[in-house]
Amino acid sequence: MERFDVIIVGTGPAGLGAAFELLRTKPSLRILLLDKFQVSSGGLRNDCKMNFTWPIGFPLECWDEALGNFYLKRVEAFLQPNIMEKRNIDIYAKRAEKIGVKLLDVRQSHLGTDGGLELIKALIARLSDFGAEISLGEEMLSVEQASKTVMTDKRTLQYGSLIVAPGRGGFAFLQRLMEDLGVDYHDNTVDIGIRIETREEHYSIVRDYYDPKFLFPKKTRTFCTNSHSAHVVQERYGDQETGPWYSVNGHAWSEQRASNGLVNFAILKTVTLTQPLASGQKYAQMLGHLAALLGGGKPIMQRIGDFRLGKRSFADSFTDDDLYDFHPTLPSCTPGDISLCIPAKTMRAIWNALKLLDTVVPGVMHPSTIMYYPEIKLYANRPSFVDEYFQVLPGIYFAGDGAGTSRGITAAWASGLRAADGILKSS
Ligand SMILES: Cc1cc2nc3c(=O)[nH]c(=O)nc-3n(C[C@H](O)[C@H](O)[C@H](O)COP(=O)(O)OP(=O)(O)OC[C@H]3O[C@@H](n4cnc5c(N)ncnc54)[C@H](O)[C@@H]3O)c2cc1C
Repeated sequence: MERFDVIIVGTGPAGLGAAFELLRTKPSLRILLLDKFQVSSGGLRNDCKMNFTWPIGFPLECWDEALGNFYLKRVEAFLQPNIMEKRNIDIYAKRAEKIGVKLLDVRQSHLGTDGGLELIKALIARLSDFGAEISLGEEMLSVEQASKTVMTDKRTLQYGSLIVAPGRGGFAFLQRLMEDLGVDYHDNTVDIGIRIETREEHYSIVRDYYDPKFLFPKKTRTFCTNSHSAHVVQERYGDQETGPWYSVNGHAWSEQRASNGLVNFAILKTVTLTQPLASGQKYAQMLGHLAALLGGGKPIMQRIGDFRLGKRSFADSFTDDDLYDFHPTLPSCTPGDISLCIPAKTMRAIWNALKLLDTVVPGVMHPSTIMYYPEIKLYANRPSFVDEYFQVLPGIYFAGDGAGTSRGITAAWASGLRAADGILKSS
């Protein structure tokens, strides 16, 4: 059986951050990185906009400002991003403040989906040059703590330390792992929302600020704005047992591509559940299935103009050349009525946020604007950590979005650094 000093599961930013830090500090370590896909599947690959300002992407349960900034500096020193210029922020921020909305001033870089792929390839090649062994297309299935072994779909391996960073897509896998290992966890928080798609001139702030972060009342916020060559996409969730359901998302290509004149972004509301239901995942799954039921197995899209009039959208709401004059970038969605499947409290918070946003950036509530539902973020899988380095059991660390230690690329990278620091400290 092959033995590695450290096995890292997941080649997303958390796994990569950990691997680079371990090899930088201790080049003699024998390190294996595993990924079930050929290329990492999270945000590095999709749009790849990176935020370098506290607290974007850092869950406050695991980080404080000093710690977040300490790690952010290290992330930035390694990635050396090109920070984008912003304009007129004071004007928007003042307008927002007057109506109880906050606009965060965030340092951002943006590579686009094509640029992100280039970055992943370069990082993997660099890691390989540093001596890491990388096995793509290999899936971790389980772990046996007593013998320090990991079972994959190809072999059994021994580890000195193990970092599991499977991202949001590995949410269910991580829960299964925690149940097998007897690690306590809770997942009582979830973000539920919609994705907005509109013409760039109806959300012109993106010309001044690539991904404007607005915070509204009722724990509602804008998230993941894409523009220039922007597209709405769909992600598949669920398993054989529960059946599939879908969440929408968005990404953009780099500046090299031609513009399609559209913008998309999410408006999300954070929902925290208490007794007796404490599983955000189960709640999200029910909502996802409800949307899939009403959408005939697909997400639902509705023009704001229809929603305002209290009527569902039909196919002709998306082929009209007059008022509804742009076509959806995810045309496979079902035209329908999102208010039939989104919880009323969530819809109220989102609708209120949209009205406030339309006051700060007039135009976003144009009748042609499309609302896609559901956009659900499952990243609150909070294990009980035994130390500040995200260790859950002796020699086993969880990092990244899947374990609720981050909500974005830079924070995921930082969480990988933190796990690596723990391993280096203990060796
Ligand atoms: C479409 C999309 C767009 C996004 N855009 C952005 C953005 O622009 N900016 C931003 O900051 N964040 C973005 N995010 C969020 C971002 O992806 C995450 O915050 C970040 O990637 C989390 O990093 P991670 O390392 O925890 O997980 P991931 O990046 O998700 O990586 C986890 C890796 O683990 C692998 N894996 C999972 N299970 C196993 C297993 N059992 N065995 C082996 N490998 C496994 C997966 O294949 C995956 O490659 C986006 C997310 C999505 C889905």
